Amino acid sequence: MNCTPHANSYYAASANTKQLRAKLADNIETDVCIIGAGYTGLSSAIHLLEAGFKVTVLEAARVGFGASGRNGGQIVNSFSRDIDTIEKTVGVEKGKLFGEMAFEGGRIIKHLVAKYNIQCDLKDGGVFAALNSKQMGHLDSQKALWEKHGHMGHLEMLDESGIRNVVSSERYVGGLLDKSGGHIHPLNLALGEADAVESLGGQIFEDSAVIKVDQGESPVVHTAQGSVKCKFVIVAGNAYLNGLMPELQAKSMPCGTQVITTEPLSDELARSLLPQDYCVEDCNYLLDYFRLSGDNRLIYGGGVVYGARDPADIEAIIRPKMLSTFPQLKDVKIDFTWTGNFLLTLSRLPQVGRIGSNIYYSQGCSGHGVTYTHLAGQILAETINGQAKRFDAFAGLPHYPFPGGHLMQVPFSAIGAWYYTMRDKLGI
Ligand SMILES: Cc1cc2nc3c(=O)[nH]c(=O)nc-3n(C[C@H](O)[C@H](O)[C@H](O)COP(=O)(O)OP(=O)(O)OC[C@H]3O[C@@H](n4cnc5c(N)ncnc54)[C@H](O)[C@@H]3O)c2cc1C
Repeated sequence: MNCTPHANSYYAASANTKQLRAKLADNIETDVCIIGAGYTGLSSAIHLLEAGFKVTVLEAARVGFGASGRNGGQIVNSFSRDIDTIEKTVGVEKGKLFGEMAFEGGRIIKHLVAKYNIQCDLKDGGVFAALNSKQMGHLDSQKALWEKHGHMGHLEMLDESGIRNVVSSERYVGGLLDKSGGHIHPLNLALGEADAVESLGGQIFEDSAVIKVDQGESPVVHTAQGSVKCKFVIVAGNAYLNGLMPELQAKSMPCGTQVITTEPLSDELARSLLPQDYCVEDCNYLLDYFRLSGDNRLIYGGGVVYGARDPADIEAIIRPKMLSTFPQLKDVKIDFTWTGNFLLTLSRLPQVGRIGSNIYYSQGCSGHGVTYTHLAGQILAETINGQAKRFDAFAGLPHYPFPGGHLMQVPFSAIGAWYYTMRDKLGI
């Protein structure tokens, strides 16, 4: 197979199907052409198809090749910035709208899994784990804020003994449990969503990189061997877009984060680490995230590489993090390591907008992307279907270029990372 394969991850090794879809080799017409088959593209496609649009998805490599097929699998609700911070930027009324949407992405995922019978090891429950009392205080106010926006009944503060019941690690002083969070096998979710797209009559072409978009009243999207004439385009290439749309580059930067996966653990050991089978992320700016897989492996991620260069020895970076959380795993073998790219914006909020009158994009969610991208798909679809209120709220978020332009993105972000690492270490 010449097509760029999935990253060599645990997820690719345990994918429900490895069947390659056809490449675009014709000139065709559709209503909406979507560039990229990650969650943003696939969620948009499903919602548009359900609303009666004809949809074609073009994927440069494989469905779920990007972050969607290789992430930590954590269904983390809300946004990468607190709702009160967003409110300060956009005002109280729009802030309320963001507050209402904070848990919608997770609900969309669970709805799609149930409706299209997607086999992706879905488990309920996610924990934000605090490493110090300052982080506990922040979680307390986070819970109050979410409840103020109507999200009640599924959030529970955990004190020191409470957190020990969900994570067997001495590192944490407490946490916040979100019972509406959870975790999934991310590639199998993407593959299941792709099947759903096709079951609704949508087309997906793999190994079909878009090389040019002719803008205008009827845009034409070109690959090396074909083209798609359409009424609307959705650009959903996120950190893997590689300059296809230069207007989207200046205000975002691809960054890498790394994941390791242990060999399968005995039932007893697995349950002793995470007795409730919840996923966990800590509250540091440069955070660690971990959970059990469907076959009892520990999947542990962390670290950020600014500028998305691939680190030479991922195990050397992530294994010490895993052992500082779970020293009891010192003799456990690591079966898989991989890296993947997400897109960072300076505000850490997503960049959503329109180029001309009919080319839509959503990118750069900088964290919480599993849920946000599913919400984004719903919002892009409702916008194309004539309901732009929520799109306008996202599109109105201010974004700033990285200081010094493209060349200075990495040094400035590295300084930022150093600053936040020091804050995390000192607990201030
Ligand atoms: C290692 C890792 C761990 C993460 N863990 C979590 C987590 O646990 N929880 C969480 O909420 N978020 C997590 N994230 C972030 C989350 O995975 C992403 O925000 C989300 O998956 C982005 O989805 P997307 O569809 O926008 O982009 P992607 O999934 O990256 O998809 C973009 C797709 O577009 C395609 N493409 C690009 N250019 C072209 C082109 N020219 N023509 C055709 N196709 C093109 C790419 O090949 C790719 O398949 C993680 C990210 C990484 C990398």
